Parts: sequence; C-alpha cells; structure tokens
Amino acid sequence: MAISLRTKIVSSFSLVFALLSFLGLLSLYNRNLLYDGMMEVETASRELKNISDLKLSLDMAVMPANDYIISGDPAEKERFADLVKEVEERFKRLKDAGMYDGEIGEAERKFEVLKRKSMNIFSSPLAARNGRRAAQMEEIDALALDIIVNHLDRVYLGKREEMSSRVDAASSLRHKVDAILFTIAFLSFIAIAMVALYLFRSILRPIDELTRGAAIIGKGDLDHRVDIKDGIEMNLLAEEFNRMAGRLGESYAELEKKIAERTKELHEANERLQELSITDGLTGAYNHRHFAGRLEEELKRAERYGKRLSLIMSDIDHFKEYNDLNGHPAGDAVLSEVSACLKEGIRGQDVLARYGGEEFSIILPETGKDEAHSLAERIRAMVKDRVFPHESEQPGGDLTMSFGVASYPEDAVTPTELVKKADGALYRAKEAGRNRAERA
Ligand code: GH3
Ligand code: MG
Ligand code: MG
Repeated sequence: MAISLRTKIVSSFSLVFALLSFLGLLSLYNRNLLYDGMMEVETASRELKNISDLKLSLDMAVMPANDYIISGDPAEKERFADLVKEVEERFKRLKDAGMYDGEIGEAERKFEVLKRKSMNIFSSPLAARNGRRAAQMEEIDALALDIIVNHLDRVYLGKREEMSSRVDAASSLRHKVDAILFTIAFLSFIAIAMVALYLFRSILRPIDELTRGAAIIGKGDLDHRVDIKDGIEMNLLAEEFNRMAGRLGESYAELEKKIAERTKELHEANERLQELSITDGLTGAYNHRHFAGRLEEELKRAERYGKRLSLIMSDIDHFKEYNDLNGHPAGDAVLSEVSACLKEGIRGQDVLARYGGEEFSIILPETGKDEAHSLAERIRAMVKDRVFPHESEQPGGDLTMSFGVASYPEDAVTPTELVKKADGALYRAKEAGRNRAERA
C-alpha cells in the first residue's frame, strides 16, 4: 500500500516522541519512588535516634540518686531534676513523632515509678537511709534496666528491623525499575533505529532508482522506465519522470523521422541538380561537358576490357533555312523533337548528347562499326519519316539529318581523334548530298 512520505515522517517522529516521553515519565516515576523510600528511611533513622537518646537519658537519670547516696551532695537533686526534664522531653518527642504505642506508654509509666523512688531517696533523712539505701538503689537500677531492656530496646529493635526491611524493599524496587527502564530503553533504541532505517529506505531507494533511470536515459535508452511503488509523492514523481522519458522518446522518434524525410528530399534535390547539371535545357539530351567525360570514360573501359566502341556525330540538314523561314522558337521546337526522335532510336546503354547548335552525338559502348552504321541508318530513316512542322518548306520538302560514324580502335584511340573521325565522316555525308550516314 502506498503511504505518503509526509505520513511516514510524521508517524515515525510521533513514535519516537512517544517512546522518549514514556521513558522520561518512567524515569520520573522511578525517581519519586526512590525519593519516597529515602524519606521513609530517614524518618525511621530519626525515630531510632530518638529512642537511643531516650535510652541514654534514662541511663543517666539513675546516676544522681546513686551519687547522692555516696556523697550526700544536695546538688545531685537538681541534676536529677534536669535529667528528668530531659527524659520527659524525649518521651514527648516520641509522642510528637507518632511513636507512642503500648511499649512506650508502659516505659513512661515505669519511669514515673522510677522518678518517685528516686525522689524518695532525695527526701529521706540521711540517718535513715543507711539501712535501706542499697536496697532502694537496687530497685531503681532494676527498674531502669527493665525500662531499657524490656520496653525501649524492643521498640528500638522493631524500628531497626522495619528500617532495614524498608531499605531492602527500596533497593529491590530500584533494581526492578532499573531493569524495566533498561529493557524499555533498549527496545526504544531498536524501534528508533528501525524507524530511521525504514524512513531512509523510503526516501533513498526511490532517489537511487530515479538517478539510475536518469543515467540510463541519458545514455540514450529512451525506452527505459523507472519502477517505484514507495509512497504517494515518490509514485507521482516516478510517473512524471516516465511521462517525461516517453515524451522525450516520441520527440526523438519524430525528429529522426523528420531528419530521414529531409535527408531523402535533399538526396532527391541533389539528384535533380546533378541531372540538371549534365542535361541540356532545351532538348533533354546530355550536354557537351557530360558527353566529353563519358566518351573518355567509355573509351578507357573499352581499352581496359578489350571492347569496341563507336561514335555517331549527326547534324540537322539546312537548319539555318528552317530558322530563317520559321523563326528561332520554331527551330527550338524542332531541336527538342529531333532529340526525342533520336532517343527513341538508340538502345538503353547508348549515350545521346547535344554536341552544340543543331548537332547531336551518340556514344555506342561495346558496338562495332557495322552495327553502329546500321543504327545510324535506322535513326536517319526515323527522322526522315517523322513529320515536323513546316518541313515541306525545307529543301527536298523534308527535314532530314546527316550522320558520321567512327569506331574504336580501328579509326581512333583517343576521344579527340574519334570525334574528329566521326566529324569527318559527317562532313562527307553532307558533301555527298545530306540525309545519309557515312563511315570513317
Ligand atoms: P547544313 O548543316 O545542311 O550544311 O546547313 P545548315 O544551315 O544546317 O548549317 P549552318 O551551320 O550554316 O547553320 C546552322 C544553324 O543552326 C545556324 C543556327 O541558326 C541554327 N542553330 C544553332 N543552334 C540553334 C539553336 O539553339 N536554336 C535554333 N533555333 N537554331 C539554332
Ligand atoms: Mg551544323
Ligand atoms: Mg546543319
């Protein structure tokens, strides 16, 4: 399923934020738990100190009576009063701290007895005390010991046990919370790493694919398309990229088609130009320049392959008269028609050219003199038989042509010589009365 990049980023960051918040809250809760435990331990230790202070004061409160019996010093009474005040103050402190229970109550009650017995020692006359003082003092000491051992120590030990169990509980709680915190922190780390990896892959994979696609298309493979299905934005980007590649391909194909068309047109124009450059404009036969080149070429070929070659030179009879009588435009028309007539008479391999004026030359490759003469004879008859406009006004009532034939190698071996020989034969045809074909 396609998920938008925005959704991916927002949900990934929300997850990370939620994990970190949970960790923070858990740490805060842990800190509060530990603080509460610490406060409890501190309260318990204060209570312990109160009890041990009371034990100490009580222990000391027995001493003034004892000293009084030995020394008889009345100042001991005052010392006793101070110590009683101190003990009472400590009992009060225990009450204020909410520690007043059965044991403490019993201890306080027994202290009242101890106090009374001590006061008795201070108030009895010195003479009377000799016999009973040891016994009274022993009672007071036993009472003090009873208060300390049987009541205060019990409370003290109970408190101490309570405190140590609180310390143990706090310590085990700390270990548990530490383990939970560590586990959650570890899981969070893995979750965050996976989210980051997922996000990187979601963004980097499509970018890599696009980069690769652009490189391939850049190298000329315009049919290449990228395939991305990650996230809505990336899909759109890939579609647009592929559309662009498609349009590029179409433009390229169109361009190639146009280039091919233009090249063909250019080629045809070149061919036409080439044709025009070697063609005579009026008659459509080859021009003199082309004739000269071809004659040289064909002669060389004949020489190389040991073939024969013939040349016919021809000239319209009394053409000046035709022009004089009918005008040059009419003469031009006749020139064109004569050319067409000659073309009809020759063979595919023969080369017809307008040599100049009203003279035409025909190159006959691989043709001997007899064959060439027959051909000249045939063409001559064709021209004679053809009906040209106004030809009745020509001498003899007909428009005719004269022909001279010369052949390679018997008459000449060079182009100039061959033309000269054919021309000579033509001259003889004229001399002999025109409308005929003469051999060199
Ligand atoms: P013959 O060859 O029979 O001896 O007589 P001719 O009258 O044909 O000979 P000449 O050489 O005296 O005359 C050739 C004429 O051909 C002269 C010229 O008016 C004509 N001519 C040459 N080129 C052209 C051309 O391009 N157009 C036209 N209409 N006439 C041309
Ligand atoms: Mg002439
Ligand atoms: Mg002529």
